[in-house]
Amino acid sequence: MAVLVLGGAGYIGSHAVDRLIAKGYDVAVVDNLVTGHRAAVNDQARFYEGDVRDSDFLNQVFDQEDIEGVIHFAAFSIVPESMKNPLKYFDNNTAGMVKLLEVMAKHDVKRIVFSSTAATYGEPKQIPIKETDPQVPTNPYGESKLAMEKIMHWSDIAYGIKFIALRYFNVAGAKPDGSIGEDHHPETHLVPIILQVAAGEREQLQIFGDDYPTPDGTNVRDYVHVVDLADAHILALEYLKQGHDSEAFNLGSSTGFSNKQMLDAAREVTGQPIPAVMAPRRAGDPSTLVAASDKARNVLGWDPQYDDVKEIIKTAWNWKQSHPAGYDDRGGQA
Ligand code: NAD
Ligand code: UDP
Repeated sequence: MAVLVLGGAGYIGSHAVDRLIAKGYDVAVVDNLVTGHRAAVNDQARFYEGDVRDSDFLNQVFDQEDIEGVIHFAAFSIVPESMKNPLKYFDNNTAGMVKLLEVMAKHDVKRIVFSSTAATYGEPKQIPIKETDPQVPTNPYGESKLAMEKIMHWSDIAYGIKFIALRYFNVAGAKPDGSIGEDHHPETHLVPIILQVAAGEREQLQIFGDDYPTPDGTNVRDYVHVVDLADAHILALEYLKQGHDSEAFNLGSSTGFSNKQMLDAAREVTGQPIPAVMAPRRAGDPSTLVAASDKARNVLGWDPQYDDVKEIIKTAWNWKQSHPAGYDDRGGQA
């Protein structure tokens, strides 16, 4: 039977496909390449180009494949864009989930592992954030993902479709051999932007805000390596296959790093000066986001291999140096 990976040509999805194949799974990928790259998809996966919201297309894929479970990465995820154009997010992310679950119910596919996000929590009341903490998103992106979690909850009750919601914190890094990595246009994430400055593609890093209530005044985030994250999806799928009930898990390292600390770490790893300036706060940025991820460790047996941000940055730098133009396919444009 096959694992169907939706959004498998994207940054995280391509690493998940790669790990699934390395572990001997039969893999099919659906992606419309709106932000993904065909070249990122492992050759051993069957690739279907199309949109999750296109029910005719999706039904055909489900007719053709014998699917044991779905891993769902296909979504938009840029917070400031979601503030300007919320309907784009509710359409692609939330309405896309409705279409997907309809097709899953029709084809009697009863397992889904889902990319959720720390953005579903909004401004945390306590650090580290636990899975049981209130989910009060502060932007439409987080709201679209929270709605997707709720839609899965009710679809579990009505149709018996079991789900695992994996709430990622800050994902970074690349496959250590440098063959796949992060290539977004525009790039908005801290680590790849710092490395663009290190590579001379950008003049300087702007650090958004140094007046937060944190030790050095800059935001604190919790970084998880993309390969560790990919492995958590496989554990989640196996957990569902064992017959367990639907659950949500945070995926982070449980350690916070400030934006200034990330810059210092990148200077050390790359040996580049990486000029940086302070800039105004970016709207919607919570001060500190750090996950309690002991639940994933204890229940799923998740054992992340990367506990050092320098090692995470090193793998991203390796990808950057071996692929200065990314996948060089002009893809990845939402
Ligand atoms: P990405 O943009 O690189 O990957 C998303 C993939 O989905 C792309 O290949 C895109 O072409 C595809 N896609 C989007 N809409 C589609 C549709 N309607 N039909 C078919 N394919 C579609 O993003 P990413 O950084 O790999 O993130 C993957 C998932 O993880 C997203 O759902 C995102 O919300 C979530 N997430 C990411 C982070 C992060 O730090 N990158 C953090 C938390 C959650
Ligand atoms: N950030 C920054 N400059 C940039 C990009 C990001 O200072 O050019 C900061 C951002 O304000 C946040 C942290 O880096 O405090 C992580 O941002 P990112 O967009 O990577 O992830 P988020 O935490 O928003 O999911």
